[in-house]
Amino acid sequence: MAPDPHDFLALDSLLNGEERLVRDTVRAWVVDTVLPGIGDWYERGVFPRELFPALGELGLLGMHLNGYGTAGASAVSYGLACLELEAGDSGFRSAVSVQGSLSMFPIWKYGSEAQKEEWLPRMARGEAIGCFGLTEPDAGSDPSSMRTAARRAGPGDEADWIVSGSKMWITNGGIADIAVVWARTDDDIRGFLVPRGTAGFSTRDMHHKLSLRASVTSELILDEVRLPSSAVLPDVRGLKGPLSCLSEARYGIVWGSMGAARARYESALDYATTRRQFGRPIGGFQLTQRKLTDMVVELEKGVLLALHLGRLKDDGRSRARPGPSSARTGSPSSIPSSATPTTSSRC
Ligand SMILES: Cc1cc2nc3c(=O)[nH]c(=O)nc-3n(C[C@H](O)[C@H](O)[C@H](O)COP(=O)(O)OP(=O)(O)OC[C@H]3O[C@@H](n4cnc5c(N)ncnc54)[C@H](O)[C@@H]3O)c2cc1C
Repeated sequence: MAPDPHDFLALDSLLNGEERLVRDTVRAWVVDTVLPGIGDWYERGVFPRELFPALGELGLLGMHLNGYGTAGASAVSYGLACLELEAGDSGFRSAVSVQGSLSMFPIWKYGSEAQKEEWLPRMARGEAIGCFGLTEPDAGSDPSSMRTAARRAGPGDEADWIVSGSKMWITNGGIADIAVVWARTDDDIRGFLVPRGTAGFSTRDMHHKLSLRASVTSELILDEVRLPSSAVLPDVRGLKGPLSCLSEARYGIVWGSMGAARARYESALDYATTRRQFGRPIGGFQLTQRKLTDMVVELEKGVLLALHLGRLKDDGRSRARPGPSSARTGSPSSIPSSATPTTSSRC
């Protein structure tokens, strides 16, 4: 039997029934809902925020977390969802990554019980949108140089916080109901929950992007924003907080990039079998076949790697950093804030 040109290595057989169901459900949703509209959203440079509840109904928002209305899915299922979303458009995978891995994850992992109850169920349903504010105009790869700062408005732990600074390139910023903002304090870098509408907090969308156009990218401006003491994430201090979130998001990006690659491959394959030159489809020429072969080999290698990472993650054996023998130690939760890690990938 000839190999399936869409699954040369029969990777489908490596997935269990639940994983295939997630994959097929998201793929069908993308075909029915994303593909018909993406040309228009891309041209206009907008993300259709009205689709957030549908993403919530599918269980895709914070789907790899547990409790608080989240789906509690496996890492592999989450990865497959990212792959299928990004096969439709990178903006959709990005929106879901930012919501689940960069906004819900820090609340879920480091938030107080009250913060979790207030935000996570609504975010899982897509009724509230989150964003993650780490990058600044002068602090990109090097977030340790951030200038956004928070100080206490008075003495004691119950005093309000005053936050000032600006964040740049923030996905979902202009449509977010809640911003997770990282700021330096006299007690290390800390995370703050800043709801839309808080006095002194505003956003400005960035337009004319060349890529990721169906995605809202914004500047966050914090001008002496006064927050209650309960707005700080109580259970993390230092850069390990935001960097652990980025590790979560990067896992989804590994899968997502394979979705983009698959869409490119399928489009090239379709063109090569329908476009005729010199009396036959251009896919009939060996030089074209060589290009398609290279594409499918790289694609399947990437999916295998993503799947391996997912199995490790589901097994509790994934590591975001080199092991303890290295200068930088252990898991994200043990990254010292004095280290100089970078944040080189998009969200
Ligand atoms: C569409 C989009 C969405 C984004 N969404 C978010 C978001 O939601 N939240 C958020 O906080 N941020 C977000 N970002 C910001 C993103 O994470 C930053 O762009 C990233 O951290 C890099 O920072 P920079 O753009 O300032 O580049 P710079 O830090 O100025 O780097 C410029 C170049 O130098 C290279 N470089 C830097 N340091 C080193 C080094 N030590 N060694 C080798 N090369 C190096 C980089 O790889 C890069 O190629 C987004 C960015 C984009 C474009």
